[in-house]
Amino acid sequence: MKLCTFRIGDGPPRAGVWTERGIVDLAAVDASLPASVIEVLMLGEAGLERAQAAAARGPAVAREGVTLLAPVPRPSKIVCIGLNYRDHAAEVNLPLPEYVTVFAKWPNTLIGDGEPIVIPSESHRVDYEAELAFVIGRSARHVPEADAYKYIAGYTCFNDVSVRDYQNRTSQWTLGKVFDTHGPCGPVLVTRDEVPDPQALRIECSIDGERLQNSSTSQMVFGIPKLVAELSAVMTLEPGDLVATGTPAGVGTSRNPRRWIRPGERVRVSIERVGVLENPAVAASA
Ligand code: ZN
Repeated sequence: MKLCTFRIGDGPPRAGVWTERGIVDLAAVDASLPASVIEVLMLGEAGLERAQAAAARGPAVAREGVTLLAPVPRPSKIVCIGLNYRDHAAEVNLPLPEYVTVFAKWPNTLIGDGEPIVIPSESHRVDYEAELAFVIGRSARHVPEADAYKYIAGYTCFNDVSVRDYQNRTSQWTLGKVFDTHGPCGPVLVTRDEVPDPQALRIECSIDGERLQNSSTSQMVFGIPKLVAELSAVMTLEPGDLVATGTPAGVGTSRNPRRWIRPGERVRVSIERVGVLENPAVAASA
């Protein structure tokens, strides 16, 4: 099942299911279902079953008739993993990490499929990072690797847009990672049952048809079970929390010449079985 968050016109965000017929508004079909994806996840398996039933019988709206938001627009956490692909660590000339590198983004970064990435007036060194993200399905604390997948609701595409000069000014990357709109996510949350092996997925990023990243999630240094174990040893992961698992080789800052996202271009992240996330870039209005 493909869960999404959408709005029609200026209406409020709604939880939906993306079907072959279009997008079904869950709470409109089944009044016992909540209007946000995060609350649907909090209902557990029963919530997903009711969502599936509603999606099968409800009327659908065409994709073109809605604005998609990030599948979970206001997660309690956006946890990002750095240097987590063998091919990416090699291109930036860093040894494979001994420990998981973790940093954060905030919900002000999140936008949905089709929404614009704003190139800020402060810097033009705006880079792309195609990433597989997983979404937590139930409260997770001290989860052993062997149980990790039970806590994952599903997967989505993420673009960890990064302003490289801001990122590297100090030892803390945060400011370069949290410009408004610099967390495109979606188009949908694909439930875990549809992705039998998340560590064997083709992952790509292209700009205006030029393929710049082309790798496999099999290149991850720390796999998804290890990430769930390491993170949940420290913090309670809550339903809807997003964990972006790092980017493969080919980012703009490692290319010669360097390749930044320019206003007017379209950035496309595609991950096998998970979807295609495409966002135009626009210049900040003065
Ligand atoms: Zn990243």
